[in-house]
Amino acid sequence: MITPTYQTLTTGTDLFGVRLNPATGFKGLFSNQSFDEGEELFTFSVRSLHQKPTYLTVQIDEKTHFEFEPEFLQYMNHHCDPNVHLDLNNFTLVALKPIREGEELHFFYPSTEWKMDRPFACHCGSKKCIGIISGAYALSTTQLANYQLSPYIQQKLGN
Ligand SMILES: [Zn+2]
Repeated sequence: MITPTYQTLTTGTDLFGVRLNPATGFKGLFSNQSFDEGEELFTFSVRSLHQKPTYLTVQIDEKTHFEFEPEFLQYMNHHCDPNVHLDLNNFTLVALKPIREGEELHFFYPSTEWKMDRPFACHCGSKKCIGIISGAYALSTTQLANYQLSPYIQQKLGN
């Protein structure tokens, strides 16, 4: 068995670690403890507000995008079968399924982003992978039906 070598970046907490996988070149946010489905992992707040999206921001309204406080949450990668959800009513990170210690945390970017600044091809490997990730605007209501969507995205969809 090959053990990947990770570079660990400080998060200021023992609960989570940002690790760089040299094989992929991507940093990700990993959990250092296990959580049950539905459990709150973390409460976050707003580091800065922006009128336009960047690759670091999360959308909360038509022209309101924020950067995370704590900053390390920006390292959360996208996944089409995510294990966490950003609850933007309470500004908490909530487990969508049981999370094991050492598991990478990821959320479904179109659950908060209507039209993303930098669309990309997803390689999450999930059977549910939707391919190009460019925001909720590009997805059908059927594709979005399986996800917990932010209040803003629900509003855009007319829900
Ligand atoms: Zn995917």
